[in-house]
Amino acid sequence: MALELFFISGIGCLLGRLAAGWSASTLADMNSGGLIRCSACQQTVSAQTRWFSARPVRCDCGQSPTVIWHLASAVALSGLFYVYSRCLLDPDIACQALHEVRPDGILLTGRLPFHLVFIFLLWVATVTDLLDYVIPDEVIYPGILIAFVAAFAVGELQMIHVWVNWDEAYVSLYGPYLPEWMKRHQHLHGLAWTVAGSLTGASITWLIRWVSGKILGYPALGGGDVTLMALIGAFMGWQPTLCVLAIAPLTGIFIGAFTKLVNGRSFVAYGPYLTCSAYLVLCTWRWLWADYFTMRDIFGHWPSVLGLIGFSFGCLVVLLFLLRLFRAVPTENLRR
Ligand SMILES: [Zn+2]
Repeated sequence: MALELFFISGIGCLLGRLAAGWSASTLADMNSGGLIRCSACQQTVSAQTRWFSARPVRCDCGQSPTVIWHLASAVALSGLFYVYSRCLLDPDIACQALHEVRPDGILLTGRLPFHLVFIFLLWVATVTDLLDYVIPDEVIYPGILIAFVAAFAVGELQMIHVWVNWDEAYVSLYGPYLPEWMKRHQHLHGLAWTVAGSLTGASITWLIRWVSGKILGYPALGGGDVTLMALIGAFMGWQPTLCVLAIAPLTGIFIGAFTKLVNGRSFVAYGPYLTCSAYLVLCTWRWLWADYFTMRDIFGHWPSVLGLIGFSFGCLVVLLFLLRLFRAVPTENLRR
């Protein structure tokens, strides 16, 4: 396995470098962290340097600070690829091994490359959002299409099936109940799974955006967060997507402290919270679903699912009202 992991980390390093070039290109002339234009003399950095340079970017005028974050991107994505592959493939960790999901093909050729593409897209969206508070459509929409096509073509990429009923009385005797059509129409199930995830991610995020806009007077999430959650849902399915939304505020505390330390910004867009949360759910799925939090008991029972969503929404509305009551800072200072 060490050889595979070494190989995967190498690919992550290359893709991380390209991710920096891609994200800088989608940002065009806006704040691009020095990879498009020198901040001192406005001279354009060549496309070749932007995409492929393996050295720190330095302008001829000598005034612009050296830019190295495109190299940091290569190292970071390499690390993210390594950790995720290890969690998935190492039999002692097996972060997504579930009793009820047993793909015929091995993970190395099916779910692993699928999720590595996903992590790459998440990384590009994270970089653009951190740099410029933008999540580009040209990253998100092709990504959703890739997820739809792959899920339909392979038919067994899901971390969890679109519906598993653990509420039946005979589960203890016969194991989890799967509807018959899922077993007979594997590819259609793959398509239903990815579309359901995408719709769940987009619609709930849109609803949060709309409600927060009504209560606060400005939306707490950007439009890019809605499409980002559609992408996350398409690659993960609806149950993990709801977990991502639930965990995101917690990761915000850490990311907020980190960026405050690194570049002194106190406000971060919501996108990095969502991408970080999605990565965490990928790496801890077995414990979330079955071993520690046993979310399968909730997600196999419609009234519980609706109750959970209703309860979370109630909490959110109360929180937003409190925020509005105690908001002393003008919104211009919160959002750039
Ligand atoms: Zn310059």
